[in-house]
Amino acid sequence: MTMPPWVPGQETKPAPMPLLLVQSFVNTWDGDHRSDVLLDPPAARDWLTAAGLWDAGRAPEPAELDLARRVRESIRAILVVNGGGTSPAPGDVHALQAAACTVRPVLQVGPDGQVSVAAEPGGPLDAGLVTLLLAIRDAQRDGTWQRLKACGNPDCQWAFYDRSHSRAGAWCDMATCGNRIKNRRLRQRQH
Ligand SMILES: [Zn+2]
Repeated sequence: MTMPPWVPGQETKPAPMPLLLVQSFVNTWDGDHRSDVLLDPPAARDWLTAAGLWDAGRAPEPAELDLARRVRESIRAILVVNGGGTSPAPGDVHALQAAACTVRPVLQVGPDGQVSVAAEPGGPLDAGLVTLLLAIRDAQRDGTWQRLKACGNPDCQWAFYDRSHSRAGAWCDMATCGNRIKNRRLRQRQH
């Protein structure tokens, strides 16, 4: 399967579309490499545009990037729970809730009767937020949402899609994060 260009090159556990979009959005922050696409305006514009989440020629303003990062971390807080981690603290999901209140979704019916949801013209990020929220909603309805998880290694928290039969996967990668955390816990018990 060929990945869309906006999926990080190191992705080994991709979610199905359109949930892959949410996963890749969360993974614009890379804890392993200490890099954040949404900190650099030109890089953020290129990535968000390629992913269909940004519809302006200009680069995002600092406030727009700040909003995008806060929404991203809200989603990650929920993915931590999906991975068996602790529930979000009050406020952790606030940015996502606020985004849902700010955007103005509009229902459209095409000539073939297909119903779609667009965003009323607003900020250049609005349509992207609607797209992300709908992808989350659809995944919650079809049962794939619970499989999108944040890695249990607190230094990593990479979003991965758990295709395992048991749905008990906790690590983006067992060989790196899984063993690293297990060894750390083992050492703590031995002390
Ligand atoms: Zn990891």
